[in-house]
Amino acid sequence: MPSRYDILFQPIKIGPVTAPNRFYQVPHCNGFGWRMPKGLAAMRGMKAEGGWGVVCTEETEIHHTSDLSPFFEGHIWSDDDIPSLLLMTDAVHKHGALAGIELSYNGRDASNLYSRAVTFDLFSRGLVGGSGYEPGQSRAATKDDLKQIRKWHRNAAIRAKNAGFDIIYCYAAHNLTLAFHLMSKDNDRADEYGGSLENRTRFFRELIEDTKEAVGDTCAVAVRFAVDELIGASGMQFDGEARDIVSMLAELPDLWDVNVSSWKNDSTTSRFEKEGNQEKYISFVKKLTTKPVVGVGRYTSPDSMVSAIERGIMDMIGAARPSIADPFLPNKIKAGRHEDIRECIGCNICVTGDTRFVPIRCTQNPTMGEEWRRNWHPEIIAPKKSEDEILIVGAGPAGLEAARALGQRGYHVVLTDAKREAGGRVALESALPNLNEWRRVIDWRLTQIQKIENIYFYPSSPMTAKDILEAGAPHVILATGAKWRRDGIGRYLSRPVKGGAKIFTPDDFLESGGLPPAFQQQAAELQKILIYDDDHYYMGGVLAELLAENGCEVTLMTPAPSISYWTQFTLEQDRILKQLHKLNVTLLADHIIASHTPTNATVTNVITSAESTLACDAIVMVTDRIPNDALYHELKPALAEGKLKSLRIIGDAEAPNIIAQAIFSGHLAAREFDELIDPDVTPFKVER
Ligand code: ADP
Ligand code: SF4
Repeated sequence: MPSRYDILFQPIKIGPVTAPNRFYQVPHCNGFGWRMPKGLAAMRGMKAEGGWGVVCTEETEIHHTSDLSPFFEGHIWSDDDIPSLLLMTDAVHKHGALAGIELSYNGRDASNLYSRAVTFDLFSRGLVGGSGYEPGQSRAATKDDLKQIRKWHRNAAIRAKNAGFDIIYCYAAHNLTLAFHLMSKDNDRADEYGGSLENRTRFFRELIEDTKEAVGDTCAVAVRFAVDELIGASGMQFDGEARDIVSMLAELPDLWDVNVSSWKNDSTTSRFEKEGNQEKYISFVKKLTTKPVVGVGRYTSPDSMVSAIERGIMDMIGAARPSIADPFLPNKIKAGRHEDIRECIGCNICVTGDTRFVPIRCTQNPTMGEEWRRNWHPEIIAPKKSEDEILIVGAGPAGLEAARALGQRGYHVVLTDAKREAGGRVALESALPNLNEWRRVIDWRLTQIQKIENIYFYPSSPMTAKDILEAGAPHVILATGAKWRRDGIGRYLSRPVKGGAKIFTPDDFLESGGLPPAFQQQAAELQKILIYDDDHYYMGGVLAELLAENGCEVTLMTPAPSISYWTQFTLEQDRILKQLHKLNVTLLADHIIASHTPTNATVTNVITSAESTLACDAIVMVTDRIPNDALYHELKPALAEGKLKSLRIIGDAEAPNIIAQAIFSGHLAAREFDELIDPDVTPFKVER
């Protein structure tokens, strides 16, 4: 029967090749890179299996003089890299998809820490790759250097063709590549590569022409171009030079993949931007070219995808994160199973694979990054091995995922929660400012659980150890979460902070669905609030925002060298700081609490040890959490006595961590159930 979504499954001709549909996994980093080609190939292959018509690599370095270490990206430095790349193209082709490669020659973003080569850029300038502040400078590329780089790019394109790629990229986006830097208004070189826009675009044009000439007979040549840097007139602008560049090069490439720069603007979190947020920047491109246009915007709704095509914004739905959260998104749309789509929540934990140099992880999809080393499939799981029943206590992310996956295996699962609503911390945290998309973690799991007849969910059912034993299930999994500490103990302080101040914790806000009642009842007495953040992720900043928006005078203080330190790895830190500055929150890094009274806190500078006093009516402690593991300890004797066959504690109750880890922990418990686990053996394959 024809459907409104058929348009998404039309084949699209891209130069000499044809994509089977309009689902396009754009290049994305993943932390595997050249170091773990098997893990990488399996991850990319899974996307193709799930229906993505085009599956691309991450940035792939064409030469050792553009070495992106310490990050692990792709390498196509020599023919020796071809066998690794073939693993990926084979995995993608096996499912009828096209494989694309993003050839990358970066400028001063390549710190060359591994190769120790000299970096080329448009002039000699400080390096930014790696830390963002690398000592050392680039060398100004001479005309001969540019000629040489073109040759390297051409050779890489030929190698890419030999490695089986169907789409070869010329990359000028994310403010990373030399081609992009040369296009900048700062480029006042006196030769034919600087000055006028035509001159500044020359190198990018040459790369495209070279690539077409070298491999364009059988491979499509795509460009990735950032049409706006969101820095106003000093950068590329979609209604400025970007328009002229697209006009000049309109029909030259076989495909335009367009976005905004830099990465933090391209991959904004749901806290700051919603689905389709790039449309206003990229929509002009299709008006200037007849070639297929790809765009991104964290599209997870099939209706939004159809609409983006029908409105003429793009021809193919580009996606990195939606394809990570659900590699089977296209196939689910095709099968009319829209409610089964595991929608990306826009948290950017996937990005931390790259920024922390480890294989990619995903909050929604616990199998992401585990395809090869654990042989995990996002849709398939081993069937049950026994008829045993399992009782899971706690329906937060860990308990929900364990129940869902065990239910999918066919086990009889009883899931209970003390609360009326499932979701644990996610249900509560998603009520905080701008975190509402996080509810998708719960919604997807509850939708699946409702479909599985052998899972029985009992909300409003607090369980004691006695209740659990009386329930009679032979296997018990405890997913009882954790509580925030009130005493200031955390990464920095190992002893409770003493004093008489009013103390709040994030739980007081979470349990109130926002501001605790005290803030409404005693608004006049709770004006100056000190938030002590030794958690370093989003919670401190979110609560500062909430309190400041409600009229409090907020100081956000942390022992770390910067505010919300870890959010730099999810690309959010700049936006968080901007928001806090806008709300006049006082930001104080490098400080800990020494003691407090009802009216002030004595704080210590961790670098100088200097003490000072801050006036405050209350303190919010965002520090460590205490695992709710009492039930586990109470039930251990029953396990020893043989009254239980197994007892496992998972998620935050075992060791508090991010939501992604709770989901992973629940999934792991389900996969390992009824398996003999040898603690002496590494439970996954290691690429060596
Ligand atoms: P995690 O992140 O590990 O999933 P959460 O804190 O999000 O942990 O969720 C824990 C859930 O467990 C909460 O919804 C809480 O209500 C529930 N819970 C904790 N203790 C009990 C108990 N004794 N009986 C039933 N439910 C419990
Ligand atoms: Fe989306 Fe978060 Fe998964 Fe990344 S980690 S794909 S942002 S849900």
